[in-house]
Amino acid sequence: MEYDVVIGLEVHVELSTKSKIFCSCSTEYNKNINSNICPICAGLTGTLPMLNRQVLNFALKIGSATNCKVNKKSYLDRKNYFYPDLPKGFQITQGNMPICQDGFVEFFIENTIQKVHIERIHIEEDAGKLLHKENHTIVDFNRAGVPLIEIVTTPCIKSALEAREFLENIKNILGYLDICDCKMEQGSIRADVNVSLKPKGSQKLGTRVEMKNINSFSAVYNAINFEVNRQIEIMTKDELVKRETRKWDDFKKTSILLREKENDYRFLRDSNFLCVHISDEMIENALNNILELPFERMKKYLYNYKLEPQSAKILISDIKKAVFFESLVEKFSINPRKACNFILSDILKYLNYNNMEISQTLLTTNKIANLINAIENGQVPRSFSQDIIK
Ligand code: ADP
Ligand code: ZN
Ligand code: MG
Repeated sequence: MEYDVVIGLEVHVELSTKSKIFCSCSTEYNKNINSNICPICAGLTGTLPMLNRQVLNFALKIGSATNCKVNKKSYLDRKNYFYPDLPKGFQITQGNMPICQDGFVEFFIENTIQKVHIERIHIEEDAGKLLHKENHTIVDFNRAGVPLIEIVTTPCIKSALEAREFLENIKNILGYLDICDCKMEQGSIRADVNVSLKPKGSQKLGTRVEMKNINSFSAVYNAINFEVNRQIEIMTKDELVKRETRKWDDFKKTSILLREKENDYRFLRDSNFLCVHISDEMIENALNNILELPFERMKKYLYNYKLEPQSAKILISDIKKAVFFESLVEKFSINPRKACNFILSDILKYLNYNNMEISQTLLTTNKIANLINAIENGQVPRSFSQDIIK
């Protein structure tokens, strides 16, 4: 039998606000455990959380960039469960009325446009962290109360490749909006991956399996392919896939069962907040100064500038390179393919060698435009470019 793969992602993003979501503690990474905490984020009874406005501003930015509808009135709810890293015994999040919903994201895979639908985007607080030592465990609440947004897609993604490319694109958008530090290795972006299979062409969705907290593009890709094969094997034996949560181990390239039963979180309005009210002015502010987004740039690079998709993708993945490239083309009339080629070979070589980003160098588009022209006219051999870039 042939199957359709069905994937839905829940992407958690740590927002780069200065202070936490309900108190004024710093969100900065601090290696001294429990030093960025106060009675509010430590969850002491009787404390009164206050919502950080900047979190709403950031949520509105990503909501707009993903074509979502904004709910002018949304609510904060308590999601109840017990875990030692959750100080209050519940997480403040948004249940049935999130700040943004019903959007979509478009991006390219090679030359083809893909569209992924966004079900909802909500704001919530992060939990703390458990540090397991030899014979004891330490609870660190530094991360408790760091603001998160969760971006939930509909089950519309059809392959591991599409899931990975979608995530890369979300990361690019977050970088362009400057609302997340995008350090995936530190868990700033992490995805829960839901996978199911259905007979080819069937309308009815199969039973999904969820893998939580995956924090690299390649791990998402590997986890999905592994899960698809695991489910095919089960179905080939005429057995049923069980609704379960599994843990992906990217070192061993395998997953293990975490739990079978679904939690009952008893979602409940948090009465410390009446509602989250979004004014027109807040939306206007959030939309101010938003840079042209990756998809729009990608269309320009492919259709107007005729770049190869792979090259365009590398330029787009770093806003500074993209801006540098566009300036060479638009201000200095350098041929787009030549500008792209020079950045991806000569300049990248220099940056990689010095372990720098383009913004950390003294390179100006003026200087590079002159250099490209001089090479073009035969005044400077290309092999000298590294010496001149210096
Ligand atoms: P929860 O938060 O309990 O995991 P949700 O209903 O919010 O549950 O769904 C979470 C994710 O699971 C969404 O991204 C959704 O697209 C995805 N999903 C739902 N049903 C399926 C399915 N049959 N196959 C794959 N993904 C699914
Ligand atoms: Zn605090
Ligand atoms: Mg889930």
